Amino acid sequence: MNVEILEKTDTNLRFVIRDADAPFVNALRRIIISEVPCMAIDEVVILENSSMIQDEVLAHRLGLVPIKTDLNAYNLREECVCKSKFGCNLCRVALTLDVEATDTTTVYSGSLVSENAAIVPVSANIPLVKLAPGQKLKLEADVRLGRGKEHAKWQPVAVCAYKNMPQIKINPKLCDACGECVKVCPKAVFAVAEGKVEVRNLLACTLCLDCVDACPKNPKAVEVTWDKNTFIFNLESTGALPPERILQEAVKILDKKTADFLKELAGEKDETS
Ligand SMILES: [Zn+2]
Repeated sequence: MNVEILEKTDTNLRFVIRDADAPFVNALRRIIISEVPCMAIDEVVILENSSMIQDEVLAHRLGLVPIKTDLNAYNLREECVCKSKFGCNLCRVALTLDVEATDTTTVYSGSLVSENAAIVPVSANIPLVKLAPGQKLKLEADVRLGRGKEHAKWQPVAVCAYKNMPQIKINPKLCDACGECVKVCPKAVFAVAEGKVEVRNLLACTLCLDCVDACPKNPKAVEVTWDKNTFIFNLESTGALPPERILQEAVKILDKKTADFLKELAGEKDETS
């Protein structure tokens, strides 16, 4: 297997995996979406809320605020040494919010005060509620680690998808550079240069085959297929974790699943799970 990074930023990771197969790449995708833990607000105690928004709606909205996650310092509640449903300082971070409006004010995620400066909302600019003069909001929120399969708020990614690597062939004997494929392609994959159609941006191809349909030649001058063992993987983090960390955690989880499966096959009892 061979991996080539195409793009890497604080939140995005785009790479090509060669010599892999769809079940493996799909397993990675599903583990990232449903099993890599990240932090989110789970329980909210509303002490005072005289705003227009109902407590439940506000709690739901708070739950969806992405929170910067520290996987090294915190445990999943169910795996924590405290064995308590209330949590301890190894599995819970408390946030508080206390605002009173003197003027019409929008309360943003940045107003949440955390007991741990590293565990805060990813963005301070997420609107939570609008307060009219005199309205008050006071609450305590518990942040904990969880997994996407329990609730989507614990999904560390906004986008996690892959596609097969496109393969486009233009037959120079049939193609007269009429430009129909250039015009129809929504991703600007083709260009005409020096009386010839060229593939300029192969990776952008979504395999829609509109270019093949648009080609007036018979047989078609353009052929679009895909490599079933090469994938373009696209991952966009919510900001809770760096994208490469998300991938590393997914690989660790896949490793553990495989090891557990082999142990079960061998009939051994696993004391830890
Ligand atoms: Zn604990």
